[in-house]
Amino acid sequence: PVNRTSEIQESRLKLPILGEEQHVMETISEHPVVILCGATGSGKTTQVPQFLYEAGYAHDVGMIGITEPRRVAAISMSKRVGTELNLSTREVSYQIRYEGNTTPDTKLKFMTDGVLLKEVQKDFLLSKYSVIIIDEAHERSIYTDILIGLLSRIVPLRHKKGSPLKLVIMSATLRVEDFTENSRLFKIKPPVIEIESRQFPVTMHFNKHTPQENAYLNEAYRKVCKIHRSLPEGGILVFVTGQQEVNTLCRKIRETFKSKLSDTKNKAVKEDDKESSQMKTKIPRVQLDDYSVLPEDDELSEQDGAHGNNQSDEELSEPDDDDTFDDVSREPGDSQNPIYVLPLYSMLPTHKQAKVFEAPPAGHRLVVVATNVAETSLTIPNIKYVVDTGKVKTKFYDKVTGVSSFKITWTSKASANQRAGRAGRTGPGHCYRLYSSAVFNDEFELFSSPEITRRPVDDLLLLMKDLNIDKVVNFPFPSPPDRLALKAAEKLLLSLGALEPPAKPQKPTRKSQRAEMDNPSARISPLGRAMACFPVAPRYGKMLSLGHQHNLLPYVIALVAALSVQELFVEIGEPPIDETEKQAWKNRVGKMVMLKKTWAGQGQSALLGDLMVLLKAVGACEYAGCSTDFCFQHGIRHKAMIEIRKLRSQLTNAVNSVLPAANVIMDPKMAPPSELQAKLLRQIILTGLSDHIARKLQEPSTGTNEEKKKLKMAYQSIHLEEPVYIHPNSVLYKQNHEYVVFQDITETSKLYMRGVSVIEAEWLPVFVPHGCTFS
Ligand code: ADP
Ligand code: MG
Repeated sequence: PVNRTSEIQESRLKLPILGEEQHVMETISEHPVVILCGATGSGKTTQVPQFLYEAGYAHDVGMIGITEPRRVAAISMSKRVGTELNLSTREVSYQIRYEGNTTPDTKLKFMTDGVLLKEVQKDFLLSKYSVIIIDEAHERSIYTDILIGLLSRIVPLRHKKGSPLKLVIMSATLRVEDFTENSRLFKIKPPVIEIESRQFPVTMHFNKHTPQENAYLNEAYRKVCKIHRSLPEGGILVFVTGQQEVNTLCRKIRETFKSKLSDTKNKAVKEDDKESSQMKTKIPRVQLDDYSVLPEDDELSEQDGAHGNNQSDEELSEPDDDDTFDDVSREPGDSQNPIYVLPLYSMLPTHKQAKVFEAPPAGHRLVVVATNVAETSLTIPNIKYVVDTGKVKTKFYDKVTGVSSFKITWTSKASANQRAGRAGRTGPGHCYRLYSSAVFNDEFELFSSPEITRRPVDDLLLLMKDLNIDKVVNFPFPSPPDRLALKAAEKLLLSLGALEPPAKPQKPTRKSQRAEMDNPSARISPLGRAMACFPVAPRYGKMLSLGHQHNLLPYVIALVAALSVQELFVEIGEPPIDETEKQAWKNRVGKMVMLKKTWAGQGQSALLGDLMVLLKAVGACEYAGCSTDFCFQHGIRHKAMIEIRKLRSQLTNAVNSVLPAANVIMDPKMAPPSELQAKLLRQIILTGLSDHIARKLQEPSTGTNEEKKKLKMAYQSIHLEEPVYIHPNSVLYKQNHEYVVFQDITETSKLYMRGVSVIEAEWLPVFVPHGCTFS
């Protein structure tokens, strides 16, 4: 019996899905798999779990599990459903990568898709659940896609066992053919329920001219000012591409419609940290076959995250330049017409995100500046105007070389239409598209392509091998990953030793050889099993597996955590044009360079390069209690630091359960590594990044000055024909080391290596199993 307040009862009755409760519940009871489509705001996420709860799906048989691709949604929806059902967080709970509030009494569990994927690794049949709801399936996040593939096998298995599991797939769009028309996925086509939603008409306004490449933020700003000054009341929702853009635009709007401006002062950067003395003795090296292996049948108790870096693209920093703004100066009357501006993006703390659900202060117009989060996962009340830049920021990877670059591109037609739809929830609305209808028609793709087709899949391949899915090409993916990406992933895992080459048949026949080539099926090795226990990319898992030698584990854990979280340091951005500002900018850059040099230290420590800087930054920050003040003073992003701390603690637990003898503790007062340890750390890093090596190119004695200049300080990496360079932010920039190892290469004006350490030529034959050929 559910005891809802009358207020909740009333607001529920307005939701289109409520009239469909009987239909939805009958379909679910008659079919193992059901697909439910309904526009954003129709009540899917908040109501369907309640229907199931009231129908008794969570009574003694098991839990109702709901997956979300975003942490924001998992937390806020569990709170909302708890409130609606009048139940405590003991019963309606959530679990995201590092935190959660589940209890033995939990009946409804909201979680990120990565968390459920981890649970499949531990209990393939998901026996704790009676129903799994996969929410926001239209977003086609990589983990959601894999989960649907796995669940298509788990559901029949549970049926055979006599304890059926229901699967409900929910989508905000009608584009579900990849799930329904894929007979490898579901032999019997699952029924699709469409929720009719009450959507008010939204009038589209295209720009006559599309603004220039970098002018969309300014254009968005002008549009918001114009709407606010001339159109009737109603909230405005603006879509931009990333966190930095959100903050910049919020600040600009706030300044325009507020009387007082706030001023942030540059504070001096404090220098600390002592350098360790040099030591010149012959030192042992890391043993390559001395890795830690998971004891059989040992389960990890503290694992709750998915592999790899869960961070969203929008975390990327971009130059924070206000120069792009026209001076649409304040007009008389602006201070009498105040605006209440709120940012909204994934990494924003939950209590700040929740503000968008509250009414703005009296007399203020609400303006929400948001990333894609507001496209479908969250419904903001009373939005009447949508301003759409039409842009989206995506990380692109080269399938073979792994070189990544961030690009801001047009979004898809489907996503632009979702954005527009946000204006018609509570009444008729308007959508201002800051691009021309010709651009929309000719340059926007119909749909965005699923994530799995766009990124490296080494972590996924390892996960599948760990689930004993050997023939990954036969897996029922809703959309399969690219063959080349799979091949590259297998090659990497083989070289890391996570996979073993398939046993050769006694007498190879033509046919079997061909089958093997078309269908590579290397099996997971004991080392691979150990690596699969760590919630980080396989490369970093490899480093962890070797770290128990010479008391290196605390350092390897801290390093891997720092490497897995992007952008520890605040991006300083491009130099400003204004001369006085330029001086301040130069000072900031100079201070940061000095600070990094101090952190890098001397001797072995300095050869660890950027990774020593990371290690020292994390160490110094923890030593100082991780205060926001310390972070500000030292150019560190506080949020990244908190993320690193959580990951460190999670990795420490994981290592201790894989290798109980290690007995690692997380020490906030960790001393810097010794000379010997620093050298061994370079070798450990090399084992995980043995395909990320570059050799300094000879500067040519002949050729034009232009050519000479191009090859000055250039390196040759294993995979790429083009020269690569050490990133100017690196402490090893402009230093003359013959061999380096790097974390990744990103392409901006040049191909830049980031996260660079120095390696020794004589290590290569030992640590680079596949050999090292520089073209
Ligand atoms: P869907 O999943 O179909 O997009 P939801 O179930 O998320 O729809 O939302 C249904 C309604 O519940 C929306 O109108 C939304 O505004 C409202 N809602 C969701 N979360 C909250 C909240 N925390 N506070 C107030 N209203 C909310
Ligand atoms: Mg929803």
